[in-house]
Amino acid sequence: MMGRIIRVRGQVQGVGFRPFVWQLATRMRLRGEVLNDQHGVLIRAVGGDLDAFETALRLEAPPLARVDTVESRAEHLGPFCGFAIASSGARGADTGVTPDAAMCEDCRREIGDPDARRFGYAFANCTNCGPRFSIITGLPYDRALTTMAPFTMCNACRAEYENPVDRRFHAQAIACPDCGPRLWLEIAGVARPDDPIALAAEILFSGGTVAVKGLGGFHLACVATNERAITTLRERKHRPTKPFALMAPREVMDRYANVSAAEAQLLADPSAPIVLLPIGAVPLPEAIAPGLMHLGWMLPHSPLHHLLCAAVGVPLVMTSGNLTNEPQVIDNAEARAKLAPLADALLLHDRAIARRLDDGVERIGPKGRMVLRRGRGRAPGTIGIPATFADAPQVVAYGGQMKAAICLGKNGGAMLSHHLGDLDDPLTVEEFVKADQDYARLLDHHPRIVAVDQHPDFRASRHGLARAAEGLRVIEVQHHHAHMAAALGEAGWQGQCAVGIVLDGLGLGADGTIWGGEVLVGDYAQVRRAGWLVPAPLVGGDRSQMEPWRNAVVRLDAAGLSQTADKLFADHPVAALRQTAASGISSSSVGRLFDAVAACLGLVVGRQTYEGEAAMRLEALAGAAPSGFDAYDLTERGDMLEPAGMFRALVRDIEAATPHPVIAARFHLGLAQGFAKLTARVADAAGTRTIALSGGCFQNATLLGMTVKALKGYDLCLPRDVPANDGGLAYGQALVALARCASPSEAER
Ligand SMILES: [Zn+2]
Ligand SMILES: [Zn+2]
Repeated sequence: MMGRIIRVRGQVQGVGFRPFVWQLATRMRLRGEVLNDQHGVLIRAVGGDLDAFETALRLEAPPLARVDTVESRAEHLGPFCGFAIASSGARGADTGVTPDAAMCEDCRREIGDPDARRFGYAFANCTNCGPRFSIITGLPYDRALTTMAPFTMCNACRAEYENPVDRRFHAQAIACPDCGPRLWLEIAGVARPDDPIALAAEILFSGGTVAVKGLGGFHLACVATNERAITTLRERKHRPTKPFALMAPREVMDRYANVSAAEAQLLADPSAPIVLLPIGAVPLPEAIAPGLMHLGWMLPHSPLHHLLCAAVGVPLVMTSGNLTNEPQVIDNAEARAKLAPLADALLLHDRAIARRLDDGVERIGPKGRMVLRRGRGRAPGTIGIPATFADAPQVVAYGGQMKAAICLGKNGGAMLSHHLGDLDDPLTVEEFVKADQDYARLLDHHPRIVAVDQHPDFRASRHGLARAAEGLRVIEVQHHHAHMAAALGEAGWQGQCAVGIVLDGLGLGADGTIWGGEVLVGDYAQVRRAGWLVPAPLVGGDRSQMEPWRNAVVRLDAAGLSQTADKLFADHPVAALRQTAASGISSSSVGRLFDAVAACLGLVVGRQTYEGEAAMRLEALAGAAPSGFDAYDLTERGDMLEPAGMFRALVRDIEAATPHPVIAARFHLGLAQGFAKLTARVADAAGTRTIALSGGCFQNATLLGMTVKALKGYDLCLPRDVPANDGGLAYGQALVALARCASPSEAER
């Protein structure tokens, strides 16, 4: 009988796709079969309206599925009686690993239904939701190769697992109170017999801290409405000001935050990220995020979190459960050793976490979603690359020193890893090396090319350079070129020439100085520096990054405002700094310019307690300005942008007692307009309309919005799923390396 063989590619395994096909085929009275294989899902179908069937495969796919392509060809098939789910074909590792997903509505109803088997059960899940990447220990995605392996299914769960019309058909993490993981609360090393959720809520409510084992790691939780509880947690964690994330269901969140439609959609995404939301009318304690105007909120994404939030009824602080600068704790023994001293109780369970996945952090920018930290729920997920690289060899890129992430390129796509942390910490380095092996194994990845940052001392660079010994070709990529390539690549750009504005912290430049405020022109293979911020000395090495006042003094001195610097920073060792300034390496970093301005306004006195603190406070301040301000003038000096005039105007404003939010806003606007003007000229001269915006400073939505506005009429490539900060570096490095390997001049070398 004439029928069709239909191939579906995309994220179609482990997401309930086969039962969906079975139900669809049965409804449409088709006969045939469906199976998983190494390319995705394969369907053989006869009878009925096959065109309508193919359309419905796309339109009605289950929530966690992502259908990339549906291809079909006519063939003589059969005979079939009915429609069957056939056993899987030969296994490959191209498909099958999907990210963790937030609890679905059906499971939520079920755990709230007193008559349901899973009433109040903290580990309910189904094919449409629940843990995936955080429990996988190997491929294929099958219960035996997850941390659910030790739990033997009871008869009731087994029946659901084997029933094609049940939403738990082949749900590998299926569990119930009779057979699945169990939750308990420990106080001072002793497991309590009480209801763990009720007891945890009681402790939280009385101002205590509870370490909660979640999907990808532990959190430290306290009640967000209790200032004393928050300051206690800060003291115990030695985390004086770095913002805390919050968790609450929508109805509670809405009391404290103004949620736009776009933000609501992002919060409810199956990846359940932390979303930065503007502070609402009802204030929460300032101690949650001192000096900031946005708070990071997430919805409860697992049944455990739902139950806990419901029992508490107010927002919870949910900060990562770790010691300062160390990776998040993931196992029970480690939690007892490291977190017990910080918490009044541990809320534990016996499902192991296979890999550490921090919460993702995202915001809505001027053109939609911006991922600031790729975390749980987004990894492992592929990001498209320009079609010109479709047949490129496999590549691995190792990113930078901070916000480490690895990118694996294969089969015309790129997989950007989850956030791995800062490689200054030895435990994080261990984690990084482990993740490299882990991803290579899961994705069956065998790179021929390795891409690293040009900075030879980055741990990530050293790790990559060492692979030359395996015969891999190593390509070093300039830091800001990688940022620019990342923004271009994500937008699918494949033209001849583009311009990039890269405003960043610090990165090694092509000329041996430190860059961070650059206008670059070129393509994926090569760029040239066409404009930059007038450099200023970085005095005191790493201290120049952590002490904003150092950057203020050198900028004020350069603007002829030394007396002002003496006055503003009288309590600081200004004279000593000046003595070494001349010998300091210079930098065009806009990140350090933000620090300088923030220090002039007294936003951070002495030392920052977290990276980006001064700049984030300055952005928050600018957000509070009334409209109608004008820009400080960032003047062009040849190819350079000179900020001295900005500082002179800024000091005049300070002396005239101009409100600080207005000063912050004038600075933002001047920076955006100054760079936009020079960049537009560079683009026009190069004959291109394409401008990419990237670098850590563009996480600042105010600066990004102003720059976008100032470049109206150009084709802008903005970061979206690839972070603008160093977390996106690896993706850009991979593209640059592929472009270099493809260009004939390189091949000859
Ligand atoms: Zn579910
Ligand atoms: Zn069961």
